[in-house]
Amino acid sequence: MKLAARIGEVTPSVTLAVSAKAKAMKAEGLDVCSFSAGEPDFPTPTHVVAAAKQALDQGKTRYGPAAGEPELRAAIARKLQQDNQLPYQAEQVAVTCGGKQSLYNLMMALISPGDEVIIPAPYWLSYPEMVKLAGGTPVIVTTTAATDYKITAEQLAAAITPQTKLFVLNSPSNPTGVVYTPAEIKALAAVIVDRDILVVADEIYEKIIYDGAEHLSIGSLGPEIFARTITSNGFAKAYSMTGWRVGYLAAPLEIVKAAMTVQSHSTSHVCTFAQFGAIAALESPQDCVEAMRQAFAKRRKLMLDALNAIPGLSCPTPGGAFYLFPNVEKTGMSSLEFCEALLTDYHVATVPGAAFGADGHIRLSYATDEATILKGMERLEKFVKSRL
Ligand code: GLU
Repeated sequence: MKLAARIGEVTPSVTLAVSAKAKAMKAEGLDVCSFSAGEPDFPTPTHVVAAAKQALDQGKTRYGPAAGEPELRAAIARKLQQDNQLPYQAEQVAVTCGGKQSLYNLMMALISPGDEVIIPAPYWLSYPEMVKLAGGTPVIVTTTAATDYKITAEQLAAAITPQTKLFVLNSPSNPTGVVYTPAEIKALAAVIVDRDILVVADEIYEKIIYDGAEHLSIGSLGPEIFARTITSNGFAKAYSMTGWRVGYLAAPLEIVKAAMTVQSHSTSHVCTFAQFGAIAALESPQDCVEAMRQAFAKRRKLMLDALNAIPGLSCPTPGGAFYLFPNVEKTGMSSLEFCEALLTDYHVATVPGAAFGADGHIRLSYATDEATILKGMERLEKFVKSRL
């Protein structure tokens, strides 16, 4: 079988693969502690579920417009204005199958062979693969613990070439959880405007932020950067709606239209009744989001304290998202060896840092219950001690 050349360049999603493996092991009856995919364990808030049920009862089961239900696009535009000071019109918003498809559509709509996309590492593992699927070239800029795993304005400026089309900014970050400060975002925006490139701000973790950190949307810094910004977000993380597959893209009209041409020939649009759940999520009080954030804050401390007490491991305190990204180099294992042995021998599922462009690390999601966190950390300690 001769498959398309483009697929030979691309690796399947490791986060989804590890999470599927952990779920399969659980189904076999094994007691697995899964810290793999970033998936909140909370049920979707009942008022959101009720709105989708009501939409079903009302017969909202037909095809809809590719870019989404007009009511949802308007609600998202209001949210972006109120929460993020981003002055998008509803027509500049498109509803996509999760945040992931908003980014995929964007790459397909924007990137041609030869175009370069700057991605700071550690990165969410789908970014470079999406760029490659679109025929573009990911340009990986490595960051280290010395700069809190953040790309500096100087690094960004140095990575820009005449082929650079787009820069991917993800704050709070998956996998490190770091949050860029307003000053850092401003410095990056100045480079983007000065060198006239585009930026996609993946803000999927904006609501999951700790210790009084402030989320700043880069597009809100003024008309020049706004005109160069594509904003990507979704409902999965903030509202515990991972399986619903509702995300969105907001961008200059030309880009939104192009991304919707891609969508109209692929998935058509997001499941109609799911979109009515998303409207309820935005239009109802936001206490559920805050309650989950507080639970994540508690779990972060629990996992971080336990992990940093394990000799040989070290992990900075992340300011957002629900991941820890500890350095495991002292164990002498590659991240793949580490994660495989930990899963096989101790039934703890984690994701190798190599998948995020940072071998020597592993990623743990703490979007799971406290008992699992404590049990998993005990097993991790035993595993690391056996290997040191
Ligand atoms: N974004 C989540 C993660 O990184 C979900 C899985 C995926 O889409 O990669 O774990």
